[in-house]
Amino acid sequence: MANDNQFVNKIADIEKDFPQWYTDVVIKTGLVDYGPVKGTMVIRPYGYAIWENIQRELDRRFRETGHENAYFPLLIPMSFFTKEKEHVEGFAPEVAVVTHAGGEELAEPLAIRPTSETIIGTMYSKWLQSYRDLPIKINQWCNVMRWEKTTRPFLRTSEFLWQEGHTVHATEEEAMQETQQMLGVYKEFAESCLAIPVICGRKTEKEKFAGAVATYGMEAMMHDGKSLQAGTSHYLGQNFAKAFEIKYLDKDGTQKYGYTTSWGVSTRLIGAIIMAHGDQRGLCLPPVIAPVQVVIVPIAAKKEGVMQACEELKTRLEKAGVRVKLDSSDNSPGWKFNEWEMKGVPLRIELGPRDIQAGNAVIFRRDTLGKDVYPLEGIVDTVNGLLDKVQEEMLVSSRERRDGRIISVDTVEELLAGVEGGNFVKAGWCGCRECEDKIKEKTAATARVFAEGETAKECIVCRREAKHVVYFARAY
Ligand code: ZN
Repeated sequence: MANDNQFVNKIADIEKDFPQWYTDVVIKTGLVDYGPVKGTMVIRPYGYAIWENIQRELDRRFRETGHENAYFPLLIPMSFFTKEKEHVEGFAPEVAVVTHAGGEELAEPLAIRPTSETIIGTMYSKWLQSYRDLPIKINQWCNVMRWEKTTRPFLRTSEFLWQEGHTVHATEEEAMQETQQMLGVYKEFAESCLAIPVICGRKTEKEKFAGAVATYGMEAMMHDGKSLQAGTSHYLGQNFAKAFEIKYLDKDGTQKYGYTTSWGVSTRLIGAIIMAHGDQRGLCLPPVIAPVQVVIVPIAAKKEGVMQACEELKTRLEKAGVRVKLDSSDNSPGWKFNEWEMKGVPLRIELGPRDIQAGNAVIFRRDTLGKDVYPLEGIVDTVNGLLDKVQEEMLVSSRERRDGRIISVDTVEELLAGVEGGNFVKAGWCGCRECEDKIKEKTAATARVFAEGETAKECIVCRREAKHVVYFARAY
């Protein structure tokens, strides 16, 4: 009983030391552990269950938009990377290379995929013959490796899990449509499943994917006001098609290069969920992706009929498709409350002898920390209704929090004050790299995405005419 608050007390102060809070939460809730090789992570069952829920929701959306899943090899001949100049330059510092295998030095070194444009492009050039083969729309769920010097679980690790979609189209217009469509799929998913509002838009040349014509990203605001790039969709034009001979015989009898796209989200999304919704008690998970949606905590569990009533309730909820856990351990109810609050379970049902006698149950909401009494009769509908409500209201409150922290500025000094105050800052920009670099140097903020459809008079650095309004933020 004395250690009822042991978990709460062990999490660092979210306002004073957010990085330590993050580390405490990911480790103590059992989401991850550190792997033996520096920069690697073990995704533990509680964390992996979130990833599986993310996968299920996204995979359905990919299929609904006409994509199929496939799997390509982990090892890519190094020579493939040198075919697209920008691509090789962009990824060279991060690529891990296999030089020996079977006790011998390999004739050609093999890259461990940091992304699969090169190997998938090579296969597409073989498969694509005629205009009848188009479009090609394939997605791959896999791991990738990008060697990183400083790492943090989910946010930046040497190896991570993701999906990468790769498509080929006959026209620029169609490929551009695909790029936008998948960005839209990501946005709808982030908002309706993760309850995270995102800002979508085009990225600057400096921030775009190596080898792309244009990169579009979605940016989410974290608890500390920093931005997290939660997904990207790239229009690759004919850059990769020309480098990898992705061409076909068109209706008019001539050979033409295709137009390609690629798009991806990763286990970073779990980091986004933690940092967008978490609070001093720990995780706060949106019901759609929560591994456990409802935890039942028996009160005075040894009293006659209590465990039986809890078991019955659990069965009823399970039958209705709710992911439910009955905590029948011998820890005190207070200890259990803390533990499941820390793990971010959206709803807790407390059931004791007095509740049972009165035909009621107490339901606690993790997002609002509010408690109410509900009749046991019709409790399944009540729970389902509450889960929907929590999901919706988490998005609404996230959006309110974020919108209150988006400001517009006219000078670099104001931009600095804005990002230091934990805001996303909109500012006019002339489009030149020098001004973008200067902003980063003076404020540690980077250009996240263009504010589509918005205009400003001047660049806040050089005072020349502004070509774009850009969201600037410090970023993960
Ligand atoms: Zn400028």
